[in-house]
Amino acid sequence: MSFFAYDATGDMQAEGVALKTIAGQVGTPFYCYSAGALRAAWQEFAVAMRGMNASVCYALKANSNLAVVKLFGDLGAGADIVSVGEMRRALAAGIPAKKIVYSGVGKKPSELMAALQAGIGQINVESSAELETLNAVAGQLGVKAAITIRVNPDIDAATHEKITTGRKENKFGIDIDLAREAYTLAGKLPNLQVVGVAMHIGSQLTTLDPYRDAIARVRGLITQLRADGHRIDRFDIGGGLGIVYADEQPPSVASFLQLVAKETDGLGCELTFEPGRRLVGEAGVLVSEVILVKPGVSRTFVVVDAAMNDLIRPTLYEAWHDIVPVRRPRPDAATIRCDIVGPVCESGDYLAQNRDLAALSAGDLIMVRSAGAYGAVMASSYNTRPLAPEVLVDGTRFAVVRPRPSIDEMLSSERFPPWMEPA
Ligand SMILES: *Cc1c(COP(=O)(O)O)cnc(C)c1O
Repeated sequence: MSFFAYDATGDMQAEGVALKTIAGQVGTPFYCYSAGALRAAWQEFAVAMRGMNASVCYALKANSNLAVVKLFGDLGAGADIVSVGEMRRALAAGIPAKKIVYSGVGKKPSELMAALQAGIGQINVESSAELETLNAVAGQLGVKAAITIRVNPDIDAATHEKITTGRKENKFGIDIDLAREAYTLAGKLPNLQVVGVAMHIGSQLTTLDPYRDAIARVRGLITQLRADGHRIDRFDIGGGLGIVYADEQPPSVASFLQLVAKETDGLGCELTFEPGRRLVGEAGVLVSEVILVKPGVSRTFVVVDAAMNDLIRPTLYEAWHDIVPVRRPRPDAATIRCDIVGPVCESGDYLAQNRDLAALSAGDLIMVRSAGAYGAVMASSYNTRPLAPEVLVDGTRFAVVRPRPSIDEMLSSERFPPWMEPA
């Protein structure tokens, strides 16, 4: 079922709400998330996990809006966080500290301290230096920190180079060949309690082969570690399952979990999954208004009021997002080849290039699909453009879950130094 579809009159709806209605009240650009789509994505995991000793920690970095996090938390999700800021979000959304996993390659002592003070459930350590630091911080607090070590299984996830994380040359995790040494160190540190192993091999994976290969390698490691005397009760598989942007055919959640169940059969580990993109990506769109159309010599530019500061994925990852008009074009409408670009002063500021779209004119609304993950969270206010608001639709209701800041609010956080004359 599609949660974003044209109604009988040709207006694009998010569930039971016309996007033009939201645009009329909220202005453009804005992000719109479908609660139904979020729940449906969650449900795929919940159903496929029945009978497994497994849990889902939603990776907040994909979309950390409090309403989105709370929606998953209310359904039983834990959280995978990469900063104390995200920890605060997970806690503020009501996710219990025990269900929070803390990942990341560069956690500061102050962040580790805050995480331990909050009582979070598990810290995935990514280096020997971090083992030592965490041990010292835990000692200061008089607590024992439950840890896994994130190992880098040296697997090519066959995804965009900027979102592959499990190859030897990536900064993440500890090389699987050095992992035994790290566990030996962890075993000697008195304030750490080893509970398992973690991996996360990349993002937007569209085949299961890299997972199979990575799990096989980590499985071998787990056997060795147990022989070395370590207790390995948990296996954190990470996230990374891909979604549809263009014509990808990512595996179903059910087939992914089946594969993991098969490859971990008999290990006796509790499994953790950390999906981000798969839970939110297709559940969100970015809606923008055409400012003007500029015919050029080699191509036509459709200048819209959303830009790279709102959605940086096309610029950063060469990502392809489907773009459709919010008002369905007539079937006989002529198409034009165009670039959809924003107003930001960068040639890299585009949402799409060389697209054949039904002719657009000033004032038309467009919808960028699959923008629910790594969209609003990566937005900036470059060019002093206010962050696009976020709207959550649930059935026929909608609410602004992050308002657009006013320019006054944006300016008010800045200061003149005391030695300057007042403006
Ligand atoms: C980013 C990240 C995830 C989520 O990745 P997705 O591709 O969005 O599923 C999970 N675990 C860790 C450690 C991450 O860094």
